[in-house]
Amino acid sequence: MGFGKGSRLRIMVTGGAGYVGSHATQRMLAKGHDVVVIDNLARGHKAAIDRIHGALEGEARKRLTFVQGDVGDRSAVAATLRSNGVEAVMHFAASAYVGESVTDPLAYHANNTGAAVELLRACHDAGVGRFIFSSTCATYGEPERVPIVETTPQAPVNPYGWSKLHFERALSDYAEACRIEGRDFAHAALRYFNVAGSDRSTVIGEWHQPETHLIPIVLEVAMGKREHVTIFGTDYATSDGTCVRDYIHVEDLVDAHEVVLRSLEAGDARRYNLGIGRGYSVREIIDTARAVTGREIRVVEGTRRAGDPPALVANASKIAEEIGWKAQITDLGAIIESAWKWYQANPDGYDRDPAASSAG
Ligand code: UDP
Repeated sequence: MGFGKGSRLRIMVTGGAGYVGSHATQRMLAKGHDVVVIDNLARGHKAAIDRIHGALEGEARKRLTFVQGDVGDRSAVAATLRSNGVEAVMHFAASAYVGESVTDPLAYHANNTGAAVELLRACHDAGVGRFIFSSTCATYGEPERVPIVETTPQAPVNPYGWSKLHFERALSDYAEACRIEGRDFAHAALRYFNVAGSDRSTVIGEWHQPETHLIPIVLEVAMGKREHVTIFGTDYATSDGTCVRDYIHVEDLVDAHEVVLRSLEAGDARRYNLGIGRGYSVREIIDTARAVTGREIRVVEGTRRAGDPPALVANASKIAEEIGWKAQITDLGAIIESAWKWYQANPDGYDRDPAASSAG
């Protein structure tokens, strides 16, 4: 049986202090669920949790629990799952820099595959039978055809993509073992395209160090924090020569997790692309950011970045057809505007934090 609409769930959010994970934490709480965040704070920000906690009213604060820890610590995670009565896990905790995965591949295999397998074993130990995994369009590598459907062959071109694909495989194999044993298990691997934007109330937002993503970099130029943005390649076979990506707003993305979770029935092994189904070039991003911010954004035309596929655009119709979910914020200007508002309200991100109360 699925959880169905309206039931309040106890969800573990791994990596809940990170960019996507913190938005998931915030929105699952807003939907009435109880959330147990586990994050080792290697790249996440405790201030994000404190801000989410601080923005909750009275009793609602009790619905957020923060545990500093590693998802690869099987016995500790199993104990946390049991003691909190967790019913479902959303697994966001991961290393997510493609370039770093090339120079330090074993860190990616250890964290994104190895630790994730331990987390799944902890779920097994604690009898948690619902699991949503943050996968990536990087598992498709450089597809011959776009838009990308879920049956497009998966052939990663970097260790990051492989580390995510290996865990998709581990999930499939575990799901099959559960089926044979008659164990209640259901899961989904959600393949993210380019996640962008921030919480529109500006309580939390995107804050990476170092920052490598296009939209935050472009906005840092608009704010005067950087001199210019370098376009990585202007000679691609795309409409204006620059790379095309499918940018999905982080709130839409995390909302999809909840819809998927509610729809899962024992034995399900779902694979969905999460994108808006339309691509924008690097130049379109910069032009839209100019319009949104009203600021100059200096551009330098540079050479291609290694491993960048020319175009990655989702065909997102499978999830729409099967469970009726589709992105609501499909206007690129609105996506960039939410990121701009966060930056203006928090020019130093979480580095200088007014922060408030602590979630315990
Ligand atoms: N990009 C760029 N300049 C930058 C950062 C990114 O031209 O300073 C391009 C990059 O080559 C890619 C697109 O912007 O085509 C999106 O890059 P991002 O790193 O945001 O996400 P990715 O697609 O690599 O996951």
